Amino acid sequence: MISGAGVYFDGKTSARHDVLIDAAPGALRVCALDGSVLAEWPYAELQGLSASADVLRLGRLNNPVLARVETRDPALAAEIDRLAVTLDRSGTAERRSRKKVVAWSVAAVVSLVLVGVFGVPALTERLAPLIPLSVEYRLGAAVDSQVRTMLDTSKRNGKSFECGAADDEKAGRLALEKLVGRLERAANLQIPLKTIVVRRDEANAVALPGGHIYLFKGLIDKSKSPDEVAAVLAHEVGHVAHRDGTRSILQAAGLSLLFGMLLGDFTGGGVVVIAARTVVQSAYSRDVEAAADSYALQIMAKIKGDPRALGTLLDRIAGAIEPGVKILLDHPETKARIAAINAAAPQITPQPLLEPDEWAALQRICG
Ligand SMILES: [Zn+2]
Repeated sequence: MISGAGVYFDGKTSARHDVLIDAAPGALRVCALDGSVLAEWPYAELQGLSASADVLRLGRLNNPVLARVETRDPALAAEIDRLAVTLDRSGTAERRSRKKVVAWSVAAVVSLVLVGVFGVPALTERLAPLIPLSVEYRLGAAVDSQVRTMLDTSKRNGKSFECGAADDEKAGRLALEKLVGRLERAANLQIPLKTIVVRRDEANAVALPGGHIYLFKGLIDKSKSPDEVAAVLAHEVGHVAHRDGTRSILQAAGLSLLFGMLLGDFTGGGVVVIAARTVVQSAYSRDVEAAADSYALQIMAKIKGDPRALGTLLDRIAGAIEPGVKILLDHPETKARIAAINAAAPQITPQPLLEPDEWAALQRICG
């Protein structure tokens, strides 16, 4: 057992007591020079207190009496460090919170300067790719639960909002996972996909930050082949890969979200509501859609699906993939979009993406 000299303050008077500190096996023991035990603190309850570098100053966690003990004995200090594994003597926590304040201030100043130089839209365009994936994950999780609440509005007769959980839906879930797995391997994303089918009748789909993809039941109902479902998924994977959801949220929610992102803190509920509305209700620009279409074509070709299936399905459902987009079929933009898809579709010989029984199961994924 290592012992060393120290000073003890009992917290009741300002008197210093010269003591002997024992790094005993179970607890730190503070003894008066006459041998009487003044305090015995379990290592797990030790709290490092700020002091100069050559002093180890300790208190006891949650101790109403502000007793503390100090030592300048390096061997004893090292032994206490070894025994008290939870003791944060290097001050990491304190430094972290200090860093956070600094980050806030820097973020505020930098943002104001950048907004002045570029304006908000151009700024978010530049910043979106720089957002760490870990931050996008947290944003995605917050937005995901909000979007579920927003979309879960139709009568579902006691069934869960998410399809694929009931016994008669599980085979469909497996077929979906097979399809998504193939797309995911071809896409080689940095972020794992979380794809679900939800009980909504619109022929639609949506991609959220953090790799969340919602495929609406209505879209599966309208699809006539696994390739058509895969093509829509591939289009949504394109939005995930291009981080379009994050970018559009950043644009809509502006700097308050930017601050939240820099600090990884989305607890301000208002921002999450704006974010969820943005991904569900607002339409992407034509360029963003074209980029996701072209991404979908490449991925479809890679998995040997029919790249033209996206155009075929768009044609059937009047061009409305994505919430907020309701373009009629005779609208020149949709016709141009389908023409562009077909013109750019790689020439490959498609192979079946699912077995016939898997496709049948997928069509029944919502019971
Ligand atoms: Zn899209």
